[in-house]
Amino acid sequence: MLAAYITHIDCQKHEMGNHHPECPERLGAVNDQLLIKGLLDYMEQLDAPLATQEQLARAHSPSYLNEFAEIAQQVPENRHVQIDPDTSINEFSYQAALRAAGAAVLAANLVASGQAPVAFCNIRPPGHHAERSNAGGFCFFNNVAVGIRHAIAHHGIERIALIDFDVHHGNGSEDILFDDPHVLMCSIFEKNLYPFCGDVPMGANMVNVGLPTRSGSEAFRQAVSEVWMPALEKFQPEMIFISAGFDAHREDDMGNLALVEADYEWVTKQIVMIAQRYSHGRIVSCLEGGYDLSSLGRSVAAHVRVLIGAD
Ligand SMILES: [Zn+2]
Repeated sequence: MLAAYITHIDCQKHEMGNHHPECPERLGAVNDQLLIKGLLDYMEQLDAPLATQEQLARAHSPSYLNEFAEIAQQVPENRHVQIDPDTSINEFSYQAALRAAGAAVLAANLVASGQAPVAFCNIRPPGHHAERSNAGGFCFFNNVAVGIRHAIAHHGIERIALIDFDVHHGNGSEDILFDDPHVLMCSIFEKNLYPFCGDVPMGANMVNVGLPTRSGSEAFRQAVSEVWMPALEKFQPEMIFISAGFDAHREDDMGNLALVEADYEWVTKQIVMIAQRYSHGRIVSCLEGGYDLSSLGRSVAAHVRVLIGAD
């Protein structure tokens, strides 16, 4: 039984203009490193399906889904429509967003049913800034929230942990999941950085740790060990989703937490340990941020190597 590697060529057609950091090349940078390091030999590659409206509606409001579909489907060829100051769509964005959310659903199906031990989704657009009724921060559909809600609704999973180590707080995931008794969300992020929230959690199921700029590896690991791990031990998740963003890497200009590949390797080991203890090893990891192509590829490889047990 191989780990699942889920991606789709449609995810590369969405782009937000020249020099936008959330660029199509990100997926290739990830794929190249997984290939070069031999990790794809341990994984079964699958095409992401399109998420259905029913699946999306578990995380997003009907009015938002209708409005976004309407705007997205009317984008003229070779043009961009601005959604917020940093986020825009082209004619392929809607299809790409459906594939990214669909990847999380397929991953949930494979891992919850035991057809794959773990899954990594190499997808874009990312999702963790997409709120129930708002796109933003390069995100349109909240991929992990759609996957989590599918695992709960379709597979009857009672307790799911969402772990978000992107340098930015997953405000969209918090907005969707803060009152969900089936979910515990753990987020570590850089303070005073987009989306400028998270310091005050929206609900009791939110474990948010804001770290000061240039905190570095030690402070990050300490927050994981002292705050996340006790909460995860207490919650005993039956399945774990990861919002895997790699923009806290010291080579990435988007943030300043100064992490390195070894930190992503280490935090993945902690998550795998929890998953083996409580969740039958079941983990679904979805790509979020990470904008320096070289460190993104290397960091994902370090993460996936531990995730699939190839280390
Ligand atoms: Zn980010």
